[in-house]
Amino acid sequence: MTSEYSDTTETRQAIIEACLSMQAAGVNQGVSGNISLRTTEGMLITPSGLDYDKMQADMLVLMPLDGTPIRPGQMKPSSEWQFHRDILLAKPGEMAVVHAHPVYCTALAMNRQPIPACHYMVAAFGGNDIPVADYALFGSQALSDQVLHALKHRSGCLMANHGAVVTGDTLARALWRMVELETLAKGYVTSLSIGTPKVLNAGQMTEVKKAFADYGLKTT
Ligand SMILES: [Zn+2]
Repeated sequence: MTSEYSDTTETRQAIIEACLSMQAAGVNQGVSGNISLRTTEGMLITPSGLDYDKMQADMLVLMPLDGTPIRPGQMKPSSEWQFHRDILLAKPGEMAVVHAHPVYCTALAMNRQPIPACHYMVAAFGGNDIPVADYALFGSQALSDQVLHALKHRSGCLMANHGAVVTGDTLARALWRMVELETLAKGYVTSLSIGTPKVLNAGQMTEVKKAFADYGLKTT
């Protein structure tokens, strides 16, 4: 079930709390993470380069999704606003986008190594692996294009030499997915250090996806 959000102080506060919980969960490094949320008024996105513990509700930036300029007097949006906006435009069922540089996701992204179906939770990202978006400069339209390509049938991907991005039909779901993705990355990296992880086959993953659908989890 998709939630509708509107640009209220409560919604803005929920985004700040999501940023702080990303910090508490250890999936964010410094000010590199950013969160956006689709509201009826446009995309609400965290500002550029601001510590989460200094963030106030009125510092979040409201950006129209139709390409019209942002209302003047607002802070500068996250430097990654382009892929946030493009993902929300491309995926009308998704409400939230979370981006961060969690250590294990980033380690795999440095090696440009996707996460195979080495754990059933990989299916919670919509497919049989978690792909790596090709490299492009941070904050560029080219990066947005690569991320969008990797997320075509997925709700999360790694980003080459950069980090990770996930989506959710609610803010809580997107946040949960980022923590889950880092947990999977950590498990995968650890399993590589002690042997060769066994990968679930396509039939087993189809079974998991069906079970998730029965459970009500939207995976893409
Ligand atoms: Zn980044």
